[in-house]
Amino acid sequence: MTSEFDLIARYFKRPAANAVLGVGDDAALLAATPGTELVVSTDMLVAGRHFLAEADPYHLGHKVLAVNLSDLAAMGAVPRWATLSLALPEVDEAWLAAFSRGFFELAGRFGVSLVGGDTTRGPLNLCVTVLGEAPAGRALRRSGARPGDGVWVSGDLGGAALAVCHLNGELVLDAADAEHCQIRLHRPEPRVVLGDMLCCVAHAAIDISDGLLADLGHVLAASDVGAELEFDRLPAHPALAPKRADPLVRRCLLAGGDDYELCFTAPPEREQAILTVAETAGVTVTRIGRITDQAGLRLLDGTGRDMDIRERGFDHFA
Ligand code: ADP
Ligand code: MG
Repeated sequence: MTSEFDLIARYFKRPAANAVLGVGDDAALLAATPGTELVVSTDMLVAGRHFLAEADPYHLGHKVLAVNLSDLAAMGAVPRWATLSLALPEVDEAWLAAFSRGFFELAGRFGVSLVGGDTTRGPLNLCVTVLGEAPAGRALRRSGARPGDGVWVSGDLGGAALAVCHLNGELVLDAADAEHCQIRLHRPEPRVVLGDMLCCVAHAAIDISDGLLADLGHVLAASDVGAELEFDRLPAHPALAPKRADPLVRRCLLAGGDDYELCFTAPPEREQAILTVAETAGVTVTRIGRITDQAGLRLLDGTGRDMDIRERGFDHFA
């Protein structure tokens, strides 16, 4: 019978190049870079709530780290360390091997060391804490948006939500679109490099985990400002683009969760700096509107008229 210690040693103990002491003692020892602040975030994925128990463990290993890295990116931080707490109903070595591969592939791409965690028997539950660094006083807060700022998003929106609609049978995608959207849902790409580079350029940022309107709404509330968005400028996932007037598609674009793109604001004179940063990071960015001093979120159609976001059932996201 494999002990808990054997499992940890086999699947989760890796050399932690950037830690004073990693997995194996009572606690890890980390040396923060002088002049930085530690940025810490935790996200938990629960079977039956956030994913199906039979979900692909390789994807889960990726996703549980990706959603945490996305939070650090939204703070403008560089991720450095992570801890992983697992409750597992049984010891399934094939599951652990695939999960650990998904986790370490992503961690390795961004130089993140797994430095500790906890492993226990129980209903399947995955919890990651990430620690990163941002230049002291410069982390991107939700409260930093100012009237006149442009509102930007990275990448494109709605792909993950479209995959959920496809899996639920609400619509049928062709095979290529279905595969592409499911990659967005199961293997989201955290915008780590972009987030780090936005640290000294943007005023405020958030990652889009609950949908554009909901998450931008948090920035507006924290900053005590409003925004005007231009619907026609929203970057739709290619599978959505031809049908963007369709209500279901519009819902995916405005209220679809799980995209893990960044939404950020920055003053207009930094437009060129943002485009340069995005090009260096290898991510597209689109300016979708602007911050105003009028409370509330307005969505404008191609002729500049207000679109009724409440009528479409988005009022609880505004
Ligand atoms: P303790 O009893 O002191 O909590 P544990 O037996 O839980 O110690 O853990 C032993 C070591 O393995 C610790 O360094 C802990 O951080 C690490 N660890 C436990 N589970 C994991 C995991 N899933 N991933 C990474 N490290 C882990
Ligand atoms: Mg323990």
